[in-house]
Amino acid sequence: MTRTTLPRPVDIAAVFPELAPLARTTTRLHPRPGTPTPQESSVGGPLLWPIDDPWPFCEDPHLHVAPLTTLADVRLKRDTLTAAWKRPRHPGVNLLTPEEDAIIKRIQAGHSWTDEPIAMIPVAQLYARDIPDLHPPLGCDLLQVLWCPFDHPEEELPKAKLVWRSFSTATALLSNPPQPVAVQSGDYIPEPCVVHPEQVIEYPALSDLDEALREQIKAWQAREKTIADAGNFAYSFGLSVAPGWKVGGWTSFSFRDAEPAICPCGTQMQPLLRIDSTEWDGGSGSWIPIEDQALNRNPDLSYTPPWEPVMVTIGRAYTMQIYTCPASVDHPPVAWMQ
Ligand SMILES: [Zn+2]
Ligand SMILES: [Zn+2]
Repeated sequence: MTRTTLPRPVDIAAVFPELAPLARTTTRLHPRPGTPTPQESSVGGPLLWPIDDPWPFCEDPHLHVAPLTTLADVRLKRDTLTAAWKRPRHPGVNLLTPEEDAIIKRIQAGHSWTDEPIAMIPVAQLYARDIPDLHPPLGCDLLQVLWCPFDHPEEELPKAKLVWRSFSTATALLSNPPQPVAVQSGDYIPEPCVVHPEQVIEYPALSDLDEALREQIKAWQAREKTIADAGNFAYSFGLSVAPGWKVGGWTSFSFRDAEPAICPCGTQMQPLLRIDSTEWDGGSGSWIPIEDQALNRNPDLSYTPPWEPVMVTIGRAYTMQIYTCPASVDHPPVAWMQ
């Protein structure tokens, strides 16, 4: 099934022609739970990893938040709760059977702290053939993103690693990659998802516009919202930057002060991949793909709400934006919670 974003309720570049040259394409990934293969683009799916290529481990210090859990327990908890939610529910009766309740309590008790190196886990695998906004370096056609699923000092985020490859050079594949001995929680464990890439147009967030244009748009928005559905005329939510997991395009900030990411070489870094806690929320409902709108109206039918298909949570439902330096693929990427 494809995923289709409706045209924006207002062609904002027709209202403000100054925006037209600032238009950028982005590729919305639309990840949804599934069983991707190493030969497919995915979120949280198996990577096309050459057998003789060392698997990355993290040996950095981790912020201490015991108790820990394991990948197997995160998956068991999700499977248990998903199955329980599928059964008819009766008011006043425990959702879980006694056996399921025992499983959940055992998982919640957790595991003790570890200082062992942590095997990184797959976060995204993106083939350039599927993702028009990927723009890989010369000779590469595949981006693999892994992370260490713990909070690290400084950004309090998982530590991400980017691997660019040519898929044709990966012939003998690693079938059983190392797994972390423990993980911090389920928050940084993506559910295996297939993706449904869709290219859409974005305009800069208000914070990326010059002050004069920003004020004009704010005034327009204040005028228009008295006429029609306020959400449709909200530049930030409906007309500029798409929500959800996406590649390229513009970025936006919520709790964090807006500032450009500058590489130590002096070049302004550009958004590569945005990892989002939700695919949409109350404010960004105009971006819900047509194919998901019926499910969105009946979210109580499943344990996982349709707007959280990946089950990754960054901070208080924020985003993690990975930036790269356009000057050189060798300049380290940065990742911000924003
Ligand atoms: Zn780490
Ligand atoms: Zn640089």
